[in-house]
Amino acid sequence: MPIRTRTDVPIAQLTTFQNAGTVKEVVVLESLQDARHFLSLKLPFYVLGKGSNVLINPEGSHQRFVQISPGFSNAQVSGTQLKISAGTPVNILMKLLQEHGLSGLEFSAGVPASIGGMVAMNFGCWGEEVSKYIENVHVLDLQGNSVWLTQKEMDFSYRHSRIQTDHFLVVEVILNLRPENPEIIKSKILENIKTRSDKQPLRDKTFGSTFKNPAGHFAGALIEKAGFKGKAQGDVKFSDKHANFMVNNGEGTFHDAFTLIQNVQYAAQHQLNVTLETEVKLIS
Ligand SMILES: Cc1cc2nc3c(=O)[nH]c(=O)nc-3n(C[C@H](O)[C@H](O)[C@H](O)COP(=O)(O)OP(=O)(O)OC[C@H]3O[C@@H](n4cnc5c(N)ncnc54)[C@H](O)[C@@H]3O)c2cc1C
Repeated sequence: MPIRTRTDVPIAQLTTFQNAGTVKEVVVLESLQDARHFLSLKLPFYVLGKGSNVLINPEGSHQRFVQISPGFSNAQVSGTQLKISAGTPVNILMKLLQEHGLSGLEFSAGVPASIGGMVAMNFGCWGEEVSKYIENVHVLDLQGNSVWLTQKEMDFSYRHSRIQTDHFLVVEVILNLRPENPEIIKSKILENIKTRSDKQPLRDKTFGSTFKNPAGHFAGALIEKAGFKGKAQGDVKFSDKHANFMVNNGEGTFHDAFTLIQNVQYAAQHQLNVTLETEVKLIS
């Protein structure tokens, strides 16, 4: 079977921010065989999950994007461990947790991410991090070799993992979870979605946090202090609901968002003497 490839794909179909423009090629890897074949071609590429923490420049040098299909491998449960494809979206993960009575990752409920992206970014909130629930991560190196990394070998820290420096492709993940009553899991999921939508612009086109929290500060509070909450450039603005979330109100462009990012970084540095580092991955 040929590898599933789409050309001239709108960024609106690849990312949650849905800025204007297209990219040349998107390749979806359905199996280990697909992945090894693709890697043997030695083509330049950027790995995408569900695109919920990326800002893509349609005029940038990255024009070939690779995604891991949710069906890359079937979900398998063994005791309290769950093995799943890196392409699994959070909503399917939540269903699996309820179905198998396994608890731990309910804090991610409502976020439009994939498990591969969550591992790469060490997704976290409310004092929790994905790293805590990782047993092993199945990655492929650029030669197509399979490596099973342990939690320790993943080099996890705040919004960081080894995946960001070593450029591995995450293809499968084994999660270490806790047994729990499915009804309790369900109510935790619903409660977390409610808390999130009360505080974050969940229904808007957004890539979540724009900046990491600098030590001892909250990025949202700094943005507000620098006078940027609600500030717009074209169709892009810092949300009125949560200042660290940038939203695209329609035809927002990469350049609108990038200009706002640079302006607030400048203001934070010069007015507040704090360096704001982007959490969103700028793909240019
Ligand atoms: C409404 C909303 C709420 C959010 N809330 C939170 C939150 O509470 N906490 C938090 O930490 N983040 C949050 N985010 C940000 C985002 O969801 C996370 O960073 C998430 O981990 C990204 O997953 P993704 O699949 O969308 O990855 P993408 O955004 O597609 O990619 C992010 C990075 O991961 C890499 N990557 C993705 N998949 C793979 C793979 N298979 N192999 C190797 N590298 C890969 C990409 O190359 C990129 O560098 C939120 C986003 C939104 C839109």
